[in-house]
Amino acid sequence: MGLRFTVLASGSTGNATVVQSGDVKLLIDVGFSAKKMDQMMKERDVAGSELDGIMITHEHSDHIKGLGAFARKYDLPIYANEKTWEALNQQIGAIAEENKIVMDTGTMQDFGTLKVESFGISHDAAEPVGYCFYEGEQKLSLATDLGYMSSKVKEKVVDSDALILETNHDIEMLRMGHYPWSIKRRILGDKGHLSNEAAGEALSEVLSGQTKAVYMAHLSRDHNLMDLARLTVNNIVEDHGISLESQKVRLMDTYFDRPTKWDEMGQE
Ligand SMILES: [Zn+2]
Ligand SMILES: [Zn+2]
Repeated sequence: MGLRFTVLASGSTGNATVVQSGDVKLLIDVGFSAKKMDQMMKERDVAGSELDGIMITHEHSDHIKGLGAFARKYDLPIYANEKTWEALNQQIGAIAEENKIVMDTGTMQDFGTLKVESFGISHDAAEPVGYCFYEGEQKLSLATDLGYMSSKVKEKVVDSDALILETNHDIEMLRMGHYPWSIKRRILGDKGHLSNEAAGEALSEVLSGQTKAVYMAHLSRDHNLMDLARLTVNNIVEDHGISLESQKVRLMDTYFDRPTKWDEMGQE
């Protein structure tokens, strides 16, 4: 019984991912209306009623837009840390007390044999986190919405079989783009978003023999292109003497409007 996952959608217009291990199915973030969530999950044969819980990374609307309505519809427990809960409470409407689960950053939550661990990331939200999922020998990590990859985050995601990693923008495209400077500075800052370049640099440090798939996520539609992200990441890791091809690492796309295929993490 192995881990598998699908990134339902990723980007500044909305984020959601489903992780499954056997009978256990978890949703990470609910960045779309309940109706749109149902549609995307249906495309991957998952029903809201089959979910065991929702893990929240942070309270920005592209991660929680449909959270209240969706959680109420299927009576699902929501996992988030205390500060994120404080921010969520004003935004998502009434949630049954028993479905408000406080999961402190850095702790582990068990769902049968599937273990989920959160870790802190640097982003302009109350207490943003990424997640690692462990099943047997398998490990999946998710790190998006982060201004930079701290050594702590690198330690957490190293040795993942699959990694969902933010490649938000091309630095030059962002600089040249039409956004006001204050917003550019926010995105480029320590609590903003990870550039293609920074993702490539981070990857060259965390790509161990274990990692076989890297999903490029949360791409800006204004300041990035999938091919450019791919090229930049490839070039930077090559500069560090790593060949994705010879290490058999799959560099995978995510989409802002549709799900990736189920990734069976080498267990097909
Ligand atoms: Zn986001
Ligand atoms: Zn965010």
